[in-house]
Amino acid sequence: MSALTIPLMRPLMDQREVDAAARVILSGWVTQGPEVAAFEKEFAEYVGAEHATAVSNCTTGLHLALLVAGVGAGDEVITVSHSYIATANSVRYCGAEPIFIDIDPATFNMDPALIEAAITPKTKAILLVHQIGMPADLTAIVAVARKHNLKVVEDAACAAGSEYLWEGEWEKVGRCRGDAAVFSFHPRKIISTGDGGMITTPHADWNKQFKLLRQHGMSVPDTVRHGSSTVIFENHPVLGFNYRMTDIQAAVGREQLRRVPGVVERRREIGETYNRLLASAQWIGRPHEPSWARTNWQSYAVRLPDHVDQRAVMQVMLDAGIATRRGIMCAHREDVYRDSRHAPLPQSEAAQDRTIVLPLYPQMTMADIEYVVTTLKTATEPKQ
Ligand SMILES: *Cc1c(COP(=O)(O)O)cnc(C)c1O
Repeated sequence: MSALTIPLMRPLMDQREVDAAARVILSGWVTQGPEVAAFEKEFAEYVGAEHATAVSNCTTGLHLALLVAGVGAGDEVITVSHSYIATANSVRYCGAEPIFIDIDPATFNMDPALIEAAITPKTKAILLVHQIGMPADLTAIVAVARKHNLKVVEDAACAAGSEYLWEGEWEKVGRCRGDAAVFSFHPRKIISTGDGGMITTPHADWNKQFKLLRQHGMSVPDTVRHGSSTVIFENHPVLGFNYRMTDIQAAVGREQLRRVPGVVERRREIGETYNRLLASAQWIGRPHEPSWARTNWQSYAVRLPDHVDQRAVMQVMLDAGIATRRGIMCAHREDVYRDSRHAPLPQSEAAQDRTIVLPLYPQMTMADIEYVVTTLKTATEPKQ
């Protein structure tokens, strides 16, 4: 077995991130403070959102978004099983139950046509996912939600820099036509702060709640107390959490944010190159980008032909030094969700079982891409 030469993902960081972190470390203020505030402002500007709140990761951000959406014990939230398990977990943290609906096999995203059948008097919100960076059909989902008076939370973990058409105009994911969108800065995503997350929202009152809840429900942030010339006593009107991002992370995040346009452009080039090189291998199912979507290709997932075994193909790739992953997991197949109620989810299960995710990161060379494609074609081509 050869050493891994092509990983799945590689964060793009250099001396600029090192200098940013060092500047904060030497400043004397290392936890949530001015850098977090600046990162929030710059992130909101980039995606075109009215408000942004930085949090410790996307999962805690989803928890806060659902809480502020009014999701509580005994409620139901319509979402997909076919996602990283944190999506469903965030619903359970609120004491509510995720109601899983199936995906559109072409885009791996929530099928909006299945929402209405899943609505009950307990339904409070729709938690959609822009899966692996491909925008979900926000126009259709928001329309159903408004009709039934449901809140819309977007799991935009992977979707920084992705765009969709809204009423004829291109907008970035996070502009937030629902009620809140939540991003992840885990290294597997588009930009990274080690761990980290960001919530965007059009609602000033929601944003205020996010800022209160992420810091122990404390009425006066420590930055205000610290800078005050008079003694201030804080109080705690609600049950809060410690879901803060540190200033060290935020300083790194601000540098990372500047890279997003270039990173997304490069990822789209690589995605298009995969599309082009795989076109001659008709037995491999390529991902579909709807005309109203521009993905950031956080992941490039291909559908395998029936005559090959998923694990065997992945092993051939690994033996050739190429990392791959199987399709996105399905939460309902995990023990923790065995008791969940849902209609059959054939498309979700097929996506997990019959797709693999190929390496895609900005530093990939043309030779790397060609090597991945050649190895995949050889591993999967029909034998005569
Ligand atoms: C990665 C991911 C999460 C979790 O993000 P963290 O920042 O690690 O909490 C949630 N949802 C989706 C769809 C993800 O891909």
